[in-house]
Amino acid sequence: MTILTDGHVCQYEIRGLAGMFFPGLKIELIFGGGARPEGDYIYSGLSRESGENRLLIEVKIGENYETARDILPDSPDFKNDCERAFGFMLYKILSKITGFAPEWGTLTGVRPVRLVRRRLSAGMSAGEIIKDLQGKYLVSPQKAALAIKTAENQRGLLEFAEGKTFSLYIGIPFCPSRCLYCSFVSHSTEKTAGLIPDYVNKLCEEIRRTAEVAAGNGLKLSTIYIGGGTPTSLSAAQLRRLFRVIGENFDISSALEYTVEAGRADTINSEKLAAIKEGGADRISINPQTMLDSVLEAIGRRHTAAQVEESFRLARQTGFDNINMDLIAGLNTDTLEGFKYSLDRLIWLSPENITVHTLSVKRSSDAVYQGRAIYDPHGGLVSQMLEYARGRLDSAGYFPYYLYRQKNTRDNQENAGFAAPGRACLYNIFIMEEIQTILACGAGAVSKLYMPGAKIERIFNYKFPYEYLKGFGEIIRRKQAVYNFYKNAG
Ligand code: SF4
Repeated sequence: MTILTDGHVCQYEIRGLAGMFFPGLKIELIFGGGARPEGDYIYSGLSRESGENRLLIEVKIGENYETARDILPDSPDFKNDCERAFGFMLYKILSKITGFAPEWGTLTGVRPVRLVRRRLSAGMSAGEIIKDLQGKYLVSPQKAALAIKTAENQRGLLEFAEGKTFSLYIGIPFCPSRCLYCSFVSHSTEKTAGLIPDYVNKLCEEIRRTAEVAAGNGLKLSTIYIGGGTPTSLSAAQLRRLFRVIGENFDISSALEYTVEAGRADTINSEKLAAIKEGGADRISINPQTMLDSVLEAIGRRHTAAQVEESFRLARQTGFDNINMDLIAGLNTDTLEGFKYSLDRLIWLSPENITVHTLSVKRSSDAVYQGRAIYDPHGGLVSQMLEYARGRLDSAGYFPYYLYRQKNTRDNQENAGFAAPGRACLYNIFIMEEIQTILACGAGAVSKLYMPGAKIERIFNYKFPYEYLKGFGEIIRRKQAVYNFYKNAG
């Protein structure tokens, strides 16, 4: 599809909105209008005629040809007004053409909770916020209410990120096999097991050097998160070494939270759980994604639901009293009944956190490469799954505490974390709300440097383990940017 824009700079919002209705579709942007192309297109133009700002949207998709017009008065917030007006017009047309009305309305951003927080800080009531988001962005009252609850539940937790604090992220980009829907930079240990010893060596070195950078900038450790991939793809001995290096270089006694994503049940055993516990971690994730064996098989995960329950039992036995479990709504072959069963089963297990993701299909995922597109933007099935999850989790005593949106999700739905009282994961909130520096180690890891009032800066590590090993010197060199950031940010 082609998107033509003429006389304005709202092209990215228009492209984002089109992408919500046609996830995964290749979109070409053309600036300056001109002749309409042969195939499908969206044209958006802003012109000034007789002293008036005229907005025009034309959409041709297949047989459909629709237009919408609006006139905007000049205002101090003219660019935002244009974005909103174009978004409104295009949303209505694309909803009509596709029969699909995304519940987050015209919002295309990752962090809708921020919009709500700003309104809460300005003294608006929940009712006023719902009305405002509905009127300006066509957000459904249910989604607006979810964002409000999430923002309210974050109150009192955001302050833990204040001051010169940071969280430490450590990435282990290996998994025992690749899930069909995966779009992370993660490597199957079947193919890359030989890289792991070198990777652990370099990672330990990067952790040491990162500790020097943190100390050199007067940063205080707040939380630790070891993610992936699947960190428990490492052996118990490798995990022990990693924890030892972290413990020797950071004051983990001052950390508010220390999470390890144990991830897949096929990598968990009592020896590794003991290594994690002895290493000082107090929170783990065991992520089934579904509790149906048939769906686990369909998505290429080589473990059963019984293994998930056994891992959970082992984790409790090892003394973990803070466990997260992830589910994904919209997995290939899953049904509404199947999803309900999975969620009910997790609630029965009673972990402290349950995170409900929506399947996001990326171009790079194997599922798409294999021509097995597993999403249907118009199905409504995932919306029903999430509606069930919200109600069921609420009645089971879990509250939403972080929320974000990704591109190309089924039914354009969100990812949200739910927690038992007092068990919200601080790291998830800090990283999603971008309110704290994250110093990140490992292949594919991205450090984010944050100070109130300063522009967020990112430091990228090489993506793939072999690049990471080869370009390690450069990775260490890049971390020096932390000094400049804090010097300039004051
Ligand atoms: S466990 Fe996660 S990171 Fe690993 S392959 Fe599956 S989806 Fe990807």
